Amino acid sequence: MLNRSCFLAAAGLAALTLGATAIANEQAAVNPGEVNVYSYRQPFLIQPMFDAFTRETGVKVNVVFAKKGLVERLKQEGRNSPADLIFTVDIGRLNDAYESGVTDAVETDHLTSAIPAAFRQTDGHWYGLTKRARIVYASKDRVAPEDAPKAYEELADPKWAGRICTRAGNHVYQIALTAAMIAHHGEAKAEEWLRGIKSNLARKPQGNDRAQVKAINEGECDISLGNNYYFGKMLQNEEQFAWAQSVYPVFPSIGGKGTHVNISGMALTKASPNRDNGIRLMEFLTGDLAQQMYSEQNFEYPIVAGVPQAGLLRSMGDMHPDDLPLDRIAAYRADAFKLVDKVGYND
Ligand code: FE
Repeated sequence: MLNRSCFLAAAGLAALTLGATAIANEQAAVNPGEVNVYSYRQPFLIQPMFDAFTRETGVKVNVVFAKKGLVERLKQEGRNSPADLIFTVDIGRLNDAYESGVTDAVETDHLTSAIPAAFRQTDGHWYGLTKRARIVYASKDRVAPEDAPKAYEELADPKWAGRICTRAGNHVYQIALTAAMIAHHGEAKAEEWLRGIKSNLARKPQGNDRAQVKAINEGECDISLGNNYYFGKMLQNEEQFAWAQSVYPVFPSIGGKGTHVNISGMALTKASPNRDNGIRLMEFLTGDLAQQMYSEQNFEYPIVAGVPQAGLLRSMGDMHPDDLPLDRIAAYRADAFKLVDKVGYND
């Protein structure tokens, strides 16, 4: 029986010597007791749920983690790829995998009933696993709750001149928000909005979502944009605890709807050698137990209705998501990239 190290070795080889791996993969791939995952998500974020799956089913989950290049690898490996599933965050990356042709359509009663239509690809080429809200962090000292922005649209208001910090406009998280703005208001309005925020920035876009909260703590700006789970992550971090303590979360609406959300998600690969196990894992991860684990460990929102949120999320306030289907956001991503360039957001 082939084991985890075989899969890892085969997958590692794939990056180095393509010709040779086709054979190695073919040998390593099919195994009724295993399922193979390519993940852009860091192992510690998903391993506990995989372990729970193995405990329940006896099926081993082999994970290859990489920060980039997994879709390219799947393309190169073609039908000899050992991977059954791909895990990633952001609608942009899920859609890229879909458009690259490496995913397969899968529909089961469980998946289509557990996951709302807005958070899965129409034909089942990808499914959301968790929701993450892109929220405003506001300075406790310098922004009174009644002055905090109730809508993303307000971030363009001159009252915030010199007071906003964000990361680069072409990061996937910012692109999704700008694409959502285009979907709600059209391109001209979205451009005006982006120019407005740009002119309100306290500094040139830089750093990640947590770096913006650090900047608030240091008095450089008063509000920032960031994903909701970083609030929990910062509270758990000795150095960053003070950053989180200096802000409070605000859940703005977009287009008069709800808060802009994105997803982490998964897709079955076209080549999947262990397809049944792949689908079993997809169904397990969208079951109540795994959904609750995700929320508690990662501070993400369950995608399945009725699953309790982590206590920290509840304490942050009510999150009412925008109901815009994520594939509508995907459709405007290219336009969003162009707008970011056009307004010189990062300059
Ligand atoms: Fe993140």
